[in-house]
Order: sequence, then structure tokens, then C-alpha cells
Amino acid sequence: MSLFNLQGRVALITGGNGGIGLGMAIGLRDAGARIAIAGRNAQKAQGALAALGGDAIFLEADVTVKSQCEKMVADAITAFGRLDILVNNAGTTVRKAPQDLSEAEWHSVMDTNLTSAFLCSQAAYPTLKQAGGGKIINIGSVMSIFGAPYAAPYAASKGGIMNFSKALATSWAADNIQVNCILPGWIDTDLTAGARAQVAGLNEAVLARTPAARWGEPSDLAGTAVYLASAASNFVTGAAIPVDGGYCARA
Ligand code: NDP
Repeated sequence: MSLFNLQGRVALITGGNGGIGLGMAIGLRDAGARIAIAGRNAQKAQGALAALGGDAIFLEADVTVKSQCEKMVADAITAFGRLDILVNNAGTTVRKAPQDLSEAEWHSVMDTNLTSAFLCSQAAYPTLKQAGGGKIINIGSVMSIFGAPYAAPYAASKGGIMNFSKALATSWAADNIQVNCILPGWIDTDLTAGARAQVAGLNEAVLARTPAARWGEPSDLAGTAVYLASAASNFVTGAAIPVDGGYCARA
């Protein structure tokens, strides 16, 4: 079990105030890490902090803004004295046909899902390097691999974050920083509650295509997050791991 032990480690999870981010934060906490969650909605964060307990903190930050990413990382380090694990999880979507998207909508999805991972990773890098190593976990999607008619910027950003992870992995392997990407399948969160409401037949299509024949829960991501945050994955970098009930395995 010591391979997966995160005692003494500090993890910062963007979008950790709800959904998949909170599911991973709880898993990292259970493995022993101290937790900083970040997002824009301080009120939602109160429930997340109650679920996390202990000395978990919330950092209010918009990850599309470089100065706020830098402050968020600095504040986490000030609060806990170190940073070992960065989870770039914050994400959003705009569900429209590509011909109907505005340029602003395109940029809002790309900035939230992809540019944010660049900004937060860059902000964390000096500390991880100085500590002699660290872990970056980026959250992609099954849309890192596949597309959908209503998800052009989302699929572009998620394909981008998967390949960004590979590039970072090659850049920072010499610093003992492992960078990997998780590709969640269809997980029951606020984000997908919107999808179910907007996309006719989505619920049935997900259940039919997912071999596990159910939607995932945020807690389904916890084990892979702990693995990628721990010494168990020290020779794993640049990987993209589906956590999808078999969705990507099905033709
Ligand atoms: P939620 O909407 O529940 O969570 C998204 C989180 O991101 C929120 O906590 C939100 O917090 C935060 N966030 C959004 N924009 C910003 C911003 N500009 N700055 C800071 N925080 C921000 O969705 P999920 O939990 O479902 O999604 C989490 C990640 O998982 C996303 O990257 C998503 O694309 C990915 N994913 C989800 C899947 C699913 O089926 N649910 C499938 C595949 C991938 P706040 O509002 O407080 O800012």
C-alpha cells in the first residue's frame, strides 16, 4: 500500500469544488494528501470543504486568467508549505453546431479547458522542479479521441490537452515530473446534467454504448487519480488513461 501513500503530499485540484474534481480530491485526501481546491464559486466550495474536512482549503480563482493561476498556485504553497500534485480539472462546454458558435464561445471553451492547463502547469513548474519532482494530472475526455456534432471546441480542447500532456511529459521528465491525462467517460455531474437536458437521446445512447451499462460517478475517478499522483506511477508519463466503463473499447 505504501506505493499509493500520499502522506505529506499537497494536491491542488482546479474545479475541485464539485463533480469529478471533488471526487478526485476525496480520493487524494483518503490516500493522505492535504488538499487545496480551486474554482470561481465560493458558495459551492463550502459543500466541498465540508465533504473534504480536515485542513482542506478553497482558493477562489478563474483559471482562464494567468495572474489568477499564478496567485492560486502561490497561495496553495503558502498555505501548506509545498506543492506536489497539480490536477488540471476545471472544464466547461458550449453545446452548439460549429456553424452557430461565436468566436467568444470558442475561446471561452479553449481557455477554460486547455489554456488553463498550460497556465497552471507553468505556474507550478518552478516549485515542482525545486522539490525534485511532482505529478501533473490533466483531465481530458473520451472526446480527446472522438468528436460529437455539438462539441467542436470541447473536442478540440480535449484532444489538445491530451497531446499537451504528452509534450509536457517529454519536457519535464528530466525534472522527475510525471504528466498524465485521464480520459473520463460519461460521468454524472452538473456538466452532464446539462448535456442530458440539451441533447435528445443522450442518456439512452450513453447507456447503450458503455459496456458497464451505467453512468460513472465522480468517485470512479479517485483510484486513477491516486495512482497517477503517487509513487506507483513514477515510470508512467505521457499516458492517456480512459476511465470510462469500457466506452473507448467498444467499436
Ligand atoms: P462540473 O461542471 O461539475 O465541474 C467543473 C468545475 O470546473 C467546476 O467545479 C467549476 O467551478 C470549475 N471551473 C469551470 N470554469 C472555471 C474557471 N474558469 N476557473 C476555475 N474553475 C472553473 O463538471 P465535471 O465535474 O463533469 O467536469 C470536470 C472535468 O471533467 C472537466 O474538465 C470536464 O470537461 C471533464 N470531463 C467530464 C466528463 C463528464 O462526463 N462529466 C467526461 C469527460 C471529461 P466554478 O464554477 O466554481 O468555477
